[in-house]
Amino acid sequence: METKSNGIWRAGVLGFALAAGAAVAGSAPARAPEKEEVSMPEKIVKTDAEWRAQLTPEQYRVTRQQGTERACSGAFWDNHEAGTYSCVCCGAKLFSSEHKFESGTGWPSYFRPLSQESLILREDRSLGMVRTEVLCARCDAHLGHVF
Ligand SMILES: [Zn+2]
Repeated sequence: METKSNGIWRAGVLGFALAAGAAVAGSAPARAPEKEEVSMPEKIVKTDAEWRAQLTPEQYRVTRQQGTERACSGAFWDNHEAGTYSCVCCGAKLFSSEHKFESGTGWPSYFRPLSQESLILREDRSLGMVRTEVLCARCDAHLGHVF
């Protein structure tokens, strides 16, 4: 598996993917991200119909059909609350507000994930570009791209 520990994790659609997924859980000041809980997640497999029933149409389009939300349209791109960002599909903890930065893209951006194991990186050659797609390791939700 490819590692990008020094790369920029720009999770393009992550903000949207997180939108209704609560995220920003617990903003108690002294609380550190719970890193232990994200190691080797149990795989979640659901049918298309099950995802469709669970998610809003927009969340479904983005996370299950590799969609992209419009810049600045997500609920969290400009969020500055302390907390943990989790997957809207399965609740896996993915990113910490400590690793969020202002990328100026209109999408929430992180310079590293909470844990490398919680994400899958996959080469994406769609749209005539070679990009690295970021997926939730637990449920394969599309989260965005690494830039
Ligand atoms: Zn997930």
